[in-house]
Amino acid sequence: MNLEDNLKRLYEDIEIAKSNSHFKRDVKLIAVSKTHPVEMIKNFNKLGLIDFGENKVQELLSKIEDSEIEEKLKNNKINFHLIGNLQTNKVKYIYDKVELIQSLDRIKLAKEINKRASNDDMKVNCLVQINIGNEDTKSGIKYEDTEDFIYELLDYENINIKGLMAIAPNSTDETLLRKLFEKMNIMFENIASKNYERVEMKYLSMGMSHDFKLAIEEGSNMIRVGSKLFGNRNYN
Ligand SMILES: *Cc1c(COP(=O)(O)O)cnc(C)c1O
Repeated sequence: MNLEDNLKRLYEDIEIAKSNSHFKRDVKLIAVSKTHPVEMIKNFNKLGLIDFGENKVQELLSKIEDSEIEEKLKNNKINFHLIGNLQTNKVKYIYDKVELIQSLDRIKLAKEINKRASNDDMKVNCLVQINIGNEDTKSGIKYEDTEDFIYELLDYENINIKGLMAIAPNSTDETLLRKLFEKMNIMFENIASKNYERVEMKYLSMGMSHDFKLAIEEGSNMIRVGSKLFGNRNYN
């Protein structure tokens, strides 16, 4: 597998989707490196990718222990995003090491992040995860609860809300996916219009390998792509 070709093809597809979209938003690419070795992260980083996504705290920690990665992290030549369900008791290991926690979905979790951040007199950037397909198997708050949830988060002064994240259902139903992405964008613009302190609707994180084109067409400006770049995952 040629990583450079994968990346080139992906950039081309992103441009096509952007040109098909009436939003014309710049799209930030998060390379989802979960289950793949640090060597592949280093190779993609050499090809210019900066932002990587991991969904497990333990795996993220072991990857940033690598001396080359550690050095690049210090110099902002590489960033990690936590994109998976985050247990409250694991916040302490990562809150000051990630660029963005994309999976903020509970007040209890916000409380813990805020406590750690406040002890360090720092701010932690988070996205609010919405369970857009209302699926039992997925984390995230209910779409209908988004406004109330964000309103509650205003109490936590060491958390900056930077946008919304969603994982669409694993479906090939284009009409359904489009409708869900469109709903996400409506909420994104709705929350932005409130002008809450510490709430900036900067990122609308939606779209993965199978649905990023539709997501971009419907307004996504941050996509999280794994298999299209790294190949299939091997969960052994
Ligand atoms: C694994 C994962 C992705 C990437 O999935 P691909 O289908 O491999 O592109 C994106 N977002 C989240 C939250 C993930 O867990």
